[in-house]
Amino acid sequence: MKTTVELSKTMKAKPSRHGLSYFVKTFGCQMNEHDSERIAGLFEYDGMLKAPDIDNADVLFINTCTIRENADDKLYGTLGQLKKWKSEKSNRKLLVGGCAAQKDKELVRERAPWVDVVIGTHNLTNIVNLLNQSEDWGPITEVIDEIESLPTDAPSIRESEVSAWLTIQIGCNNSCTFCIVPSVRGPEISRRPSDIVNEALAMVNSGVKEITLLGQNVNSYGRDLKINGSSKPYFTELLTELNNVEGLKRIRFTSPHPKDFKSETLSAVNDLSKVTNQIHMPLQSGSNKILRKMQRGYTQEKFIKKLSLAKETINNVSLTTDIIVGFPGETDEDFAETLKVIELARFDAVYMFKFSTRPGTRADLMQTDFIEKSIIDQRFMQLKELQTEISHSRYKRFIGTEQSLLVEKYSKKTTDYMSGKIDGGQTTHISSKNVSVGDFVKVIITDATPFALTAELI
Ligand code: SF4
Repeated sequence: MKTTVELSKTMKAKPSRHGLSYFVKTFGCQMNEHDSERIAGLFEYDGMLKAPDIDNADVLFINTCTIRENADDKLYGTLGQLKKWKSEKSNRKLLVGGCAAQKDKELVRERAPWVDVVIGTHNLTNIVNLLNQSEDWGPITEVIDEIESLPTDAPSIRESEVSAWLTIQIGCNNSCTFCIVPSVRGPEISRRPSDIVNEALAMVNSGVKEITLLGQNVNSYGRDLKINGSSKPYFTELLTELNNVEGLKRIRFTSPHPKDFKSETLSAVNDLSKVTNQIHMPLQSGSNKILRKMQRGYTQEKFIKKLSLAKETINNVSLTTDIIVGFPGETDEDFAETLKVIELARFDAVYMFKFSTRPGTRADLMQTDFIEKSIIDQRFMQLKELQTEISHSRYKRFIGTEQSLLVEKYSKKTTDYMSGKIDGGQTTHISSKNVSVGDFVKVIITDATPFALTAELI
């Protein structure tokens, strides 16, 4: 749904593709979703309109990911299917960006020569220029390795009217062995706090009520900024500054790293009225042996200590995590350690992934330790069953309680219901009779499944 256009102060070029339509297909994480909003903004500033689907698009941008399962296979499979799409109309343009483009560079066009533009993650804002160049001179690949900070004033089209991503940092300084991010997104670069606050103000002025601060490692935000030579916890300061933005109702953030959580940040989450009581703490594995192999920088014991601190510090905290099942070398005993932490932690939700290798990562070199697929599948089901039970019991704690609900959209299945999120991030459905998108209302929770809540207006 097209809702908001933020026009760049610096972009002066005249729109040149009036009447054409575009579609952006996104794979992967929130960072990619946010990049896609920026690409949509650049296309609309160039005069194009969003197509309802790929079949109706003249220009198609595939924003790729290398993190999730079989990402490479999915990308090249998708590009293979799009050969026919491309050949159906002579003026169609196929563009590929994101992490896989950054990693594979020329290989993308070697494997799919019908692609017109391959663009890396560091020069996304050049997409319209590259599209122009491909029209004049033919297919082009422009992937740069130098890191450029995301621009603060590029146009952007948001998917939601009321809830927006706000990038505070790009890149990552960690070196988790399963992750391609450090090599395709580069080291951490933090945006200036004033730029972030200004963007938040502009968002509020355009109707946004909730922002989610976005970065690969948000709670290490600001370490590269060296503001006045101070060693203060910048992320906490940033939360405090954003809490003062008038008109803003809620602040969320993702993804933090467990090892970088400071007690000051947890206290700020509890104390600052607009920062929600929701913490995502990606565990990945409960086994110390596997955590070492992943190079996560913490042990099971340290993770549990941080988790306990979060529970003690933040009233009614909602905790979520990520788990990778079947990392190379994971034995039944290692997996039992993961289940042990899951039972102990009682997360509201667990985002589960089956390990699948990414070329270019150090985990890819652990091939002799790879686990059989059938074992991974079986462990995955075991984890899923356990967590579904825990999530259901966690969600049931809300029944009968009063909550604040930000109404975001109509339910996918019926217009009789709308959905949004309560403070803890749980998806909540409510009858559409008395509420509209953007309403920030008091509700009472009446029912719970393992994945969502139902509420009535108070
Ligand atoms: S913290 Fe680890 S998993 Fe997260 S982006 Fe950085 S390297 Fe990847």
